Amino acid sequence: MNLPRPSKIVCVGRNYLEHARELGNEVPERPLLFLKPPSSLLAQGEAIVLPPESSQVEHEGEIAVVIGRRARRVAEAEAWDHVAGIAPLNDVTARDLQKPDGQWTRAKGFDTFCPLGAVAPLDGLDRDGLEVLCRVNGEVRQHGRVGEMAFSIPRLVAYISGVMTLEPGDVIATGTPAGVGPLRPGDVVEVEIPGVGTISNPVRDA
Ligand code: MG
Repeated sequence: MNLPRPSKIVCVGRNYLEHARELGNEVPERPLLFLKPPSSLLAQGEAIVLPPESSQVEHEGEIAVVIGRRARRVAEAEAWDHVAGIAPLNDVTARDLQKPDGQWTRAKGFDTFCPLGAVAPLDGLDRDGLEVLCRVNGEVRQHGRVGEMAFSIPRLVAYISGVMTLEPGDVIATGTPAGVGPLRPGDVVEVEIPGVGTISNPVRDA
């Protein structure tokens, strides 16, 4: 699909109970939002570059929702009307910088930290059956289902659009399931949404 470059990438933290717990957290009462800069976007096959500031960069395979029609304070029931499609996304995170910084902009915002795959249009997709897998060197590390999310995709679109206007091309990263883990130079990390597509990237040192 031809979509404009996102004006923003809105991410949701701790949207799967098991993942929240593996990092010693609970699922929040309302969606926990943060932003990744568009400068972090990375295409299929390009390398994730490990920055010298971090010694613990981790993968987070996620289901990304891509906006097709401007959304401002939309109701949950109308949320899907504003969605163009679904894509696999890797919310690459410098875990060792996330806590000490107190907020997540640096840990989540390095160049190459947002691999985003091709967008599959909604038509023909089983919206309630979406799953995401993350593999490192072919081994499955994460597997989540949309039904396991604390906050559903329509709920997220409605909630976020009540804060900021979502423009066509904007991306929502809907959170990662349990199983996050380190990326090392020479690894190949893949995020797959069956029926949608796969984003695959090698990892290298800066
Ligand atoms: Mg994430």
